[in-house]
Amino acid sequence: MAPDGPSSAWSPSSWRSKPIVQSVTYSDQGAFKQATDKLNTLPPLVTAREIVKLKKELREVALGNAFLLQGGDCAELFDYCNQDMIEAKVKLLLQMSLVLIYGAKKKVVRVARMAGQYAKPRSSPMETINGVTMASFRGDILNSYEPEPAAREPDPKRLVDAYFHSAATQNYLRAALSSGLADLHTPLDWSLGHVRDPTVRDQYQVIVERITDTLDMMRTIGLDTGGGLETVDLFTSHEGLLLDYEQSLTRLFRHPSNTPAPTLASHAHSHAHAHAHGQTKARKTSLPTQLPPPPPPTHGYYDTSAHFIWIGDRTRQLTHSHVDFFRGIENPIGVKVGPSMPASDLVPLLNILNPGLEIGKIVLITRYGHDKIGTHLPAHIRAVQASPHRDTVVWQCDPMHGNGRNATVTLPSGGGEGDGGGNVDGDGDGDSTSKSPKTTTTIKTRRFSDILSELRQALQIHRSMNSYLGGVHLELTGEAVTECVGGAEGLTEEDLSLNYTTFCDPRLNEKQALELAFLVAGFYRE
Ligand code: PEP
Ligand code: MN
Repeated sequence: MAPDGPSSAWSPSSWRSKPIVQSVTYSDQGAFKQATDKLNTLPPLVTAREIVKLKKELREVALGNAFLLQGGDCAELFDYCNQDMIEAKVKLLLQMSLVLIYGAKKKVVRVARMAGQYAKPRSSPMETINGVTMASFRGDILNSYEPEPAAREPDPKRLVDAYFHSAATQNYLRAALSSGLADLHTPLDWSLGHVRDPTVRDQYQVIVERITDTLDMMRTIGLDTGGGLETVDLFTSHEGLLLDYEQSLTRLFRHPSNTPAPTLASHAHSHAHAHAHGQTKARKTSLPTQLPPPPPPTHGYYDTSAHFIWIGDRTRQLTHSHVDFFRGIENPIGVKVGPSMPASDLVPLLNILNPGLEIGKIVLITRYGHDKIGTHLPAHIRAVQASPHRDTVVWQCDPMHGNGRNATVTLPSGGGEGDGGGNVDGDGDGDSTSKSPKTTTTIKTRRFSDILSELRQALQIHRSMNSYLGGVHLELTGEAVTECVGGAEGLTEEDLSLNYTTFCDPRLNEKQALELAFLVAGFYRE
């Protein structure tokens, strides 16, 4: 890029001079400085080596050799940092990944939306609860969900709290995985009793038997002795929304020995590397042909808040802060791509975020809605296919965020008042929720059939265009919540009030999530 182009003069704080949406104003600047000073001194939450490992695995996804499963809560609360909830999510992701391995016949890369998913973009800065207007809940890293105007003020101490909750979650994930939580020698609980339709239950049972037989066989013939079945890798991810936090955890490191990752352009490398050395990268085309390629840079900036972070659908403006911050970090990154993304913006965005054409660096997380995917995805695929990025991106389908809808439910008497639960529209894809002192209320839900339909269409469209759908991005929980309708259990709108606990978007419960994996596995086998 030219020195005055969008890639000039990157630093972890260069985003501050750009326009920003979803920004935060802290009234106590002293407390804000204290919080960021503290974060600046705390150790990284993940290492450069781990980040590079994930990037290598995503390279395999981009090349069509692996599949990416990403899932977790819409908004992770600090209260979710407890053993049961962490374990339930890990086990669910593990089971889903086994089903997907069976279906796609590919290695599965597991990324949890966890250990840092604390910041939420909001479609409206204010909301009214029980007649009181207050700032919207923006995630535990920022303010409290407690429906009191004072509790909704942004509190900079929460930045440090987020770090420690992330660290505790990450610590337990590491400890539990290395102590056998994901040990495939331990039988998994596949309980399919809830599946009402016997034909469907039989189909799922066949898959479970195939998986258990394969694992048994591996044990019998001793293929389990090489360390393969004792544990699995699980990477962490969140939306990189709160740039004050992300900047504080971004550190300059020497690239792990076996990096940088291979790129399509043999000697092109990212401008961020060059900035790490105080150089400005020349345009590749202007290099005289007799000059040897510049030596690969030795250092780069790694955002150590998670292995993978993504840019939300509301913050991906080409000239704004979020894109500026993301373009300089070494992590693999995601970009949410919704119906409002003009196809003509997609390649310019990729040029900014991945000028070195690193394979697997960018995950395009598409989220249009079951009724819109047909009009948008083909144009987006065509634009990328006609660009130098064609074989570098991972295409991932998020069938959740375009499929929000409202449901009117009657809560048990006394329910729904004063807890703030369900009273957010963090993703703006449903109308804002209103609660009244009556027992009837509007909550946000998603239909299992819409989710499945978007996924199936994504797979078909990619197939028909000679492209590879490399992954899914889901909002799910290991608990038996009732937030999305449909699925084999036959949850109806009337059932939603039974256990509707999300503080943001409705999640698939553990049965619905596993069922989705069974169905996707079936699509891949078609
Ligand atoms: C989300 O993933 O929770 C989210 C807010 O998504 P999007 O940016 O796609 O609306
Ligand atoms: Mn969400």
